[in-house]
Amino acid sequence: MDVVGLLKDLIAIPSINPMGRAVTGPEFLETRLTSFLLDYLRGHGLECETHDVAPGRTNIVSRLPEVSHPITVLLDAHQDTVPVEGMTIPPFRPDVSGDQLFGRGSCDVKGGMAAMITAFRQLAQVPATHRPNVVLTLTVDEEATSLGVNHLTGSWVEGGTTYRLLPTRPTVAIVAEPTMLNAVVAHRGATRWRISTAGRACHSSRPQDGVNAIYRMAKLISALEEYAQLLPTLRPAHHLCGTSTLSVGLVTGGSSVNVVPDGCVIDIDRRVIPGEDCNQVVPDVVAFLKGKVDFPFTCEAPFLSSPPLSDAINGDWADRLLEAVLPIDGQKQKMGVAYGTHASRFEQAGIPAVVIGPGDIAQAHTKDEFISIDQLQKAVDVYRTFCLSATH
Ligand SMILES: [Zn+2]
Repeated sequence: MDVVGLLKDLIAIPSINPMGRAVTGPEFLETRLTSFLLDYLRGHGLECETHDVAPGRTNIVSRLPEVSHPITVLLDAHQDTVPVEGMTIPPFRPDVSGDQLFGRGSCDVKGGMAAMITAFRQLAQVPATHRPNVVLTLTVDEEATSLGVNHLTGSWVEGGTTYRLLPTRPTVAIVAEPTMLNAVVAHRGATRWRISTAGRACHSSRPQDGVNAIYRMAKLISALEEYAQLLPTLRPAHHLCGTSTLSVGLVTGGSSVNVVPDGCVIDIDRRVIPGEDCNQVVPDVVAFLKGKVDFPFTCEAPFLSSPPLSDAINGDWADRLLEAVLPIDGQKQKMGVAYGTHASRFEQAGIPAVVIGPGDIAQAHTKDEFISIDQLQKAVDVYRTFCLSATH
């Protein structure tokens, strides 16, 4: 089975996550890739189930046939990619140079997806008596709001949609992201939200008649800088993920240079380490700010809240993954990373989850994204070997 050929096909079908941009053409959303994947899997005799989680955005689930084993392994890869602005290579024309296969999504994460699908097909050919119990999920919207994985994990709680091929929680979830075949067991989460200040507008020639919302925000920002410096002392660093952080990334305010501004808004990014309570992040910041400023401000509910992944329940599975990797790609490590993944959503659903996949995160989302073909081929063997060992 040709994992390189499959990856080329996946790269050639755009599946851009708009990430807030207007959907201006068929290269946006996962729709066309989903059709290809369904045809491909069904064409190779694999049973598939689909769930529309939003218009044009469909989760795929496939399950190996005729297996009843108490351990179920979930293999998950996301269908979407980041946008292509600024790319210096043709994003959708897969191109090989030496060991490198170029194209948008080659590394994040169509490479991991091609490796999972290929391993899954190989496992389907194992005689039924020895076939492991494996479910493949190809989920949508990882790069923005996690609609796909949230729909899936929501299916295991009261009131969720039933997934016929995966009616109950799997035993373990393996999430494809470029890790160079290391086992990622922990990562930070992120909470992002807005704070606004209000003022009273007036002509800038008589500023004493108004209240300057930007001046107010400047005081808030100074207080937030102070809080950001304090953060590492408020909570011990996680041994794999380091410390919590806070950063103000965007300021908007005012209407004209000759008007005292009556409004100013900032966007805040707060990285959350394993063990922290995400729900406490905003209230803690508000309490700190209230001790620092004497004017009112408005704090919106987070527009993004992505949980951290802790290494509390996934260590044994990571060890077994690394045992599978050892003869294929040598000694790799359990590690923490700075980026978020679907694994934390599975962990929140009570499922041990480990992130492992071919390629280097340094090439993800880049202007000349590529993956190592050697890594890609090794990943097929890793996923297959792990599934066989996990369920026997
Ligand atoms: Zn990814």
